[in-house]
Amino acid sequence: MMKDVPTVNVDRPPSSLLERIYLGPIFSGLGVTLRHFLRNLFGKKDIATIEYPEVKRQYSERLRGRHILTTRDNGKLRCVACYMCETACPAHCIHIVAEENPGEEVAHEKVPRIYEIDLLRCVYCGYCVDACPEEAIIMSRTHEMAFSDRDEAVIGIEELRQKGPIEEADIGYRPYF
Ligand code: SF4
Ligand code: SF4
Repeated sequence: MMKDVPTVNVDRPPSSLLERIYLGPIFSGLGVTLRHFLRNLFGKKDIATIEYPEVKRQYSERLRGRHILTTRDNGKLRCVACYMCETACPAHCIHIVAEENPGEEVAHEKVPRIYEIDLLRCVYCGYCVDACPEEAIIMSRTHEMAFSDRDEAVIGIEELRQKGPIEEADIGYRPYF
């Protein structure tokens, strides 16, 4: 059986007609809107927002953007399919399928046959980059990504693979940076 909960009655003075129709707060709110509207229209110098995408902010050199799978001098992926990144990923958005390294000089046993990242599940924490023992995955500063459906956001080796030399300006978060 529930206990009686003590209650306190508060006397509330009756509202006047003017208070009940809320005209005062409505005009006060509209006044604030109008003030900001005019300020944004004529006082552009002191507003905090920018006219993106024409104007862009300077982002951090450690920005955690879209991932890059780095390659060796011979163009092959540095990834040795050790699954460390997949294991460390808190969003479970990395999917790797390993296969035997088909290379003649077997420096490492495995390579990724499938390496996928779901960019819509990724939380851009950088744990995969930290976990990688080969510096095979780094993050770029590319952060402008748009997809028309969820499947498009799952990118594989070809999209992730390093395309030629990486410009310093493109590199975002990476270990020991
Ligand atoms: S950045 Fe974080 S969430 Fe995204 S793939 Fe790497 S570990 Fe997973
Ligand atoms: S990217 Fe790095 S951590 Fe992930 S499987 Fe490849 S070598 Fe291992």
